[in-house]
Amino acid sequence: MSSTEQRSLSQTVADVQAGRLSSEALVREHLQRIERLAPLNAFLHVDSERALEAARAVDRRREQGQSLGPLAGVPIAIKDAICTQDAPTTCASKILRSNAGAREGWLAPFDATVIERLRSADAVLVGKTNMDEFAMGSSTENSAYGPAKNPWDTTRAPGGSSGGSAIAVAASMAPASLGSDTGGSIRQPASLCGVVGVKPSYGRVSRYGLVAFASSLDQIGPFTRDVRGSARVLEVIAGHDPRDPTSLSAPVGAYEAACDRGVRGLKIGVPREYFGSGLQPQVERAVSAAIDDLERAGASVHDIEMPHTRYGVATYYVIATAEASSNLARFDGVRFGLRVEEPGADLTTMYGSTRDAGFGPEVKRRILLGTYVLSSGYYDAYYAKAQKVRTLIRRDFERAFEAVDVIATPTSPTVAFRLGERMHDPLAMYLGDIYQLPASLAGICGISLPCRLVAPEQPLPVGLQLLAPALQEETLFAAAAAHEAAAGPLPQPPVAI
Ligand code: GLN
Repeated sequence: MSSTEQRSLSQTVADVQAGRLSSEALVREHLQRIERLAPLNAFLHVDSERALEAARAVDRRREQGQSLGPLAGVPIAIKDAICTQDAPTTCASKILRSNAGAREGWLAPFDATVIERLRSADAVLVGKTNMDEFAMGSSTENSAYGPAKNPWDTTRAPGGSSGGSAIAVAASMAPASLGSDTGGSIRQPASLCGVVGVKPSYGRVSRYGLVAFASSLDQIGPFTRDVRGSARVLEVIAGHDPRDPTSLSAPVGAYEAACDRGVRGLKIGVPREYFGSGLQPQVERAVSAAIDDLERAGASVHDIEMPHTRYGVATYYVIATAEASSNLARFDGVRFGLRVEEPGADLTTMYGSTRDAGFGPEVKRRILLGTYVLSSGYYDAYYAKAQKVRTLIRRDFERAFEAVDVIATPTSPTVAFRLGERMHDPLAMYLGDIYQLPASLAGICGISLPCRLVAPEQPLPVGLQLLAPALQEETLFAAAAAHEAAAGPLPQPPVAI
């Protein structure tokens, strides 16, 4: 095991800032691991030279006596749905391949706001990570560039859609990464790969430069190995952005400081609807033990009811597909990426051929579904109804948070499932999102953190999901850090050692 793997993010930054560790050495070591672990297929693009150059620039500034930012010299991996000016953005789709060189992806003309903020905090971007095409999926198998593999067992899926970002952190290819969570795409892969993943409150982080999937749900958030690390990254990327009108102007909290608060006096609600059929017994045992840990640390635990939970999957898959069908209309062969044009064909044919060749089967299924639920004659029965149920789900949370500060649930009903297992049964894939979707529909914040390893055949991580009201990320970090202190860190996944 190398020197940097078990060091916390804040310790690593402190070492770079103090000159005990050079960013160049740190980045080089992680690039070597990225190369060695290439069979996991976590990265779609790595630019080693550029990353080393950026690392050397950080080291030079330190040598000149300049003070460095809160992510000084740290290698960070970015989900390939987030626009970067100096590296291609493909959303793991063939439609965002540039026509010129069919291997290379579309190059955004600007950096996403989160990328600007990472750069000004002195982070070093190492590459773009694999994902489900346009973030649609729960396993990273819907990538046009091949599935990614879970470092705990390479025959299993890492979860999705931000699978590559979760693997990168789990297998120590980067101390931190960014993903996006529309209906669980940060929390679920964090759970299945045994790392910390945060879905901020809707509007907490700017979506400017995130390729839109479902605009009323999308949020960018961090993955790290420890809770404090995610708190630090969120502090860097959060905050109002005039370029995203849905970003909130409320001041960014002191998330890292909140990690020291403890949970004494905190009320934790446990909704029984999240412990029903479909929940694997070993997951239930691990999550219950984690809740006991929190109780021992000084929190009180209360049974609560969330009666509309069971409508979450249906509601989400109507609203998210409706929004996606509209958002993805822009990929038509005119302004972005791929264009398929037969000689003499008219414009409509060009649109059709491009979209047919460029989109994969799951994306096509969602566009069809979304167009259907918005079409006249069906709009009231599906889309309008889903919006009403969304309100009921939101009210479940409002009512629950009158009685408790935090809600604790499993993140996913199962541990990592086998690659291929759910690919021919979209409904089984969708149903696996059941515990993540209500919080997304309500716009509140959530975190998944590793609680225990269970051993169906070989050790696999189980994630604990904690949820707090919108903009109460500090409470979330306080509870998560208290659990982490009680449970201790997970070991390294076998493939990463
Ligand atoms: N698994 C969910 C879906 O397929 C959520 C994806 C996401 O959060 N991007 O839509």
